[in-house]
Amino acid sequence: MALTNSGRTPGPAGTFRDLEADIMFSHPEAHPRLPGPSGTGARGPLFLGEGSGSAQPSGYSSKADAVANLTKPSSSAVQQLSAAITTVLKLNKNKTKDEALRLKKEKVVHDIVKAYGVGLTHVTGLEFSNRNDSSNHAETLGTFIIVFDSVLVHPGFVASVILHESSHAQRNAELDNAGVRLSFATEDIWSALKEFEGAQLEIDSAAKTGITEKEKKEATSLRNSHLSEIEALMGKKTRTEIENGGLDAVRARFIQQLKSRP
Ligand SMILES: [Zn+2]
Repeated sequence: MALTNSGRTPGPAGTFRDLEADIMFSHPEAHPRLPGPSGTGARGPLFLGEGSGSAQPSGYSSKADAVANLTKPSSSAVQQLSAAITTVLKLNKNKTKDEALRLKKEKVVHDIVKAYGVGLTHVTGLEFSNRNDSSNHAETLGTFIIVFDSVLVHPGFVASVILHESSHAQRNAELDNAGVRLSFATEDIWSALKEFEGAQLEIDSAAKTGITEKEKKEATSLRNSHLSEIEALMGKKTRTEIENGGLDAVRARFIQQLKSRP
């Protein structure tokens, strides 16, 4: 659910090689890695295994703003928001999806975000889109969130998706502030770290959002698949560190190491 399209475009052939040479130069402890076909999951260990002690986490170890003030609305508030969803879904079926309807749906989403206290500090825009061609409930491009019709399941689900996306916006903003630019290979790692966080936040917030058991299970299965991805890209030690609550430290080290690349 709520997969993110970060707008990535595969780089030209040869990018991997250059990058790897780069990484090996600045991080002699790095593991070599064999680039596999694009889109395959596990591609062998990459680099940046558990800390060598040379890179210290600094200002990039921040908690997720998206859930800092998350709250469980009263059941009457949830009922009202549910009714609002039902109303726009009916309109969605009965009339052309015009700008007026798009704005109505956008208002419902904003009302939900407000009622649940989803943090949007790092989000520069939260828009509804009438587009039908996305397989995602929402997408985050940099710090801008776009949500689609499929998000309109129930209020808590919307809150869960938006808090997930908001966490991506925060991390993208932090990366931007660090002045780091991702390459094809490092984007895989960055994406896996963000998706793990987003899914974990959804799971941890379940009591407040009231997502269903089924939705929670889906988030859990996504979380687990991102953990496997992290293990494939960064090694088992890093996976274990993250499983033990070390995500912020891993991310901080990752950004620090990207910054120190010549
Ligand atoms: Zn995501």
